[in-house]
Amino acid sequence: MNAHQEPGSPPGQSLPTYDDVIAAAKRIEGVAHRTPVLTSRTADARTGGTLFFKAENLQRGGAFKFRGAYNAIARLSPEAKTRGVVAFSSGNHAQAIAYAGQLQGVPTVIIMPQDAPAMKVAATRGYGGEVVLYDRYKEDREAIGRALSQERGLTLIPPYDHEDVIAGQGTAAKELIEEVGPLDMLFVCVGGGGLLAGSALAARALSPDCRIYGVEPEAGNDAQQSFRSGSIVRIPVPATIADGAQTTYVGSKTFPIMRALVDDMLTVSDAQLVDTMRFFAERMKIVVEPTGCLAAAAVLHGIVPCAGKRVGIVISGGNVDPRAFAGFLAG
Ligand SMILES: *Cc1c(COP(=O)(O)O)cnc(C)c1O
Repeated sequence: MNAHQEPGSPPGQSLPTYDDVIAAAKRIEGVAHRTPVLTSRTADARTGGTLFFKAENLQRGGAFKFRGAYNAIARLSPEAKTRGVVAFSSGNHAQAIAYAGQLQGVPTVIIMPQDAPAMKVAATRGYGGEVVLYDRYKEDREAIGRALSQERGLTLIPPYDHEDVIAGQGTAAKELIEEVGPLDMLFVCVGGGGLLAGSALAARALSPDCRIYGVEPEAGNDAQQSFRSGSIVRIPVPATIADGAQTTYVGSKTFPIMRALVDDMLTVSDAQLVDTMRFFAERMKIVVEPTGCLAAAAVLHGIVPCAGKRVGIVISGGNVDPRAFAGFLAG
C-alpha cells in the first residue's frame, strides 16, 4: 500500500511520502532533539510486551510539533521567509512555530484566543512570536489570518493538514524504529492526524509488518468514525482533558494516508489518561500532558493485547500547567 499522489490530482493536493520524511529528518538534524527512547520493566510486566516509549515530551518546545514547524519553515522560499509566517493555535503548534521561526530568523505571527492560558501566551511571546489576540465568541480567526496574510504577505502554516508538517512529524517514528529495530505494533495519538500520518509513512517503510494504531479520546472519536466509514466525519468540540486532540475533524491530507496505512483507530477514556499520567510520573519520573498519554493509555489498559510483542509508543508532549498536573495526580 502507499499513499502517493494519484496522477492528475490538482496542484497543492499532493501527499507526502516516506522520501519527504527522510528529507525532513536531514533538515531538522542537529536542531530538533533526537529524543530518548525510554523503557520500563513495570510497564513490560503489566502488559507482557516489550515497550519502547519515544519521549517527545522532552522535544524542544515540549512536544513533537517542533519537528513539523521547523521543517515547514525551512522549506519556504527566501522571499517568503523574509515576509514571515502566520499560525493560529492556542496550543503546542503556536509555540513550535514561534520557536522554529526564531531559530531560522523568520518573523512569526500567532493568532490566539483572548482567553488562552497566560502561560501559553507568555511562552509564545518568549520564543519571539508576535501574538495577535482575538475574541473567539465574536471574531473569526481564519478571517483575521487571511487579512494578515494578504496585508503582510505572510504564509499560513496549519497545525497538521500540510505536506511539510506531516513529513516533519514522521521523523519521530523514523528515529524510534532506527534506534530499536522493527516493531510489531506502533501506537500514536491522533488529533488532526499529522503525527499519525507521518508516523505511518515512516513505520510502513522501516518496519513493513508493524501494526499501526491511532488513539484518540473516547469523547471525540471522529478519527475512528472517519476511518471506519471511509469519509471525514465532523463532530462538535469534545469534552476531554486531552486538549491537544479536541480537533473536530481530521485533515484532508492526513486522512488518505491514515486510511491507506493505519490498521485501526482506538479510543481511551479520560480516567485512563489520568491513570497513565500518574504511571508516567510515579514509575518513569516524567511529566506528560493528558494528550501525550493517549497512545500509552491504550497499551497500559490493554485496549489491544500486546503480550509477547515489541511495541512502540509515541509520547507526544509534556506541556501541562503545573497546578493542573498536580490536580490530576492528586485527584
Ligand atoms: C498537536 C498535538 C497532538 C495531535 O497531533 P495531530 O498531528 O493534530 O494529530 C497530540 N499531542 C500533542 C501533545 C499535541 O501537541
